[in-house]
Amino acid sequence: MRLRGIRRSRNVEVRRGGGAGRGGARAGGLGLVGVLFVLGIGYFTGIDVTPLLTGSGGSAPSQQTTPVSAEDDAATQFTAQVLATTEDVWSKVFQEQLGRTYEPPRLVVFSGVTQSPCGGASGATGPFYCPVDEKAYLDTGFFTMLSQRMGAGGDFAAAYVIAHEVAHHVQNQLGILPKVNAARQQASQVEANALTVRLELMADCLSGVWAMNVRGLMERGDLDEALNAARKIGDDYLQKQAGRVPQPHTFTHGTSEQRARWFDRGYDSGQVGDCDTFAADRL
Ligand SMILES: [Zn+2]
Repeated sequence: MRLRGIRRSRNVEVRRGGGAGRGGARAGGLGLVGVLFVLGIGYFTGIDVTPLLTGSGGSAPSQQTTPVSAEDDAATQFTAQVLATTEDVWSKVFQEQLGRTYEPPRLVVFSGVTQSPCGGASGATGPFYCPVDEKAYLDTGFFTMLSQRMGAGGDFAAAYVIAHEVAHHVQNQLGILPKVNAARQQASQVEANALTVRLELMADCLSGVWAMNVRGLMERGDLDEALNAARKIGDDYLQKQAGRVPQPHTFTHGTSEQRARWFDRGYDSGQVGDCDTFAADRL
């Protein structure tokens, strides 16, 4: 992705440590009920890019907050530039396709573990969007994990992950996220999972809409990097990688084939209206 000369978004919040163990101490002060409450909110409203990575061999969240280091600065700058492209694209798409004004989200860049109103965030849980404070949370270490451990390398793979989280904010702006969250709480676990899959595939499609609008910045191989990343975080692929037989009723993000196809669909048409997974007979 050609980012030279692209502005950096001012909506990035860098959390530089703030003292090791402070987050842990605060969690301890909540008491059991408080922790369960936070976890409950997190379960229903924290929307992450991948199925729970902890279930596929991810390390447990560490108890300390690691300061964002100098080597994270490149990742932070990259994130701020990609976020700026999402602001430009969605402002334009909202105006042209929806006749609305886009209010961009803030994006928290951290290292290690941090707190959010949707619960604790760590590299092990992966990036996610919290609708309570309308912020996306991104551990700078996730990019390394994506390329080295998950086999989804390339700058455009990382950009797709950022675009996917921003897509959840777009869903929130459009009122889709609150509706689906409410429906999930009335539903059985299997039904709730099925609703989540539709939400996630829509976010992948909206990421494709973003990609189509930044075609001018894309380099040879970028589209393949995004499609490969979408496949590497498919539920069936991750469950197989974890040595399990894929269990479709437990899927929350869709199969590799579905994730890549919905991204491609958004990329092909560039139309938000073509991303309505809730109207689709076949996902
Ligand atoms: Zn997601």
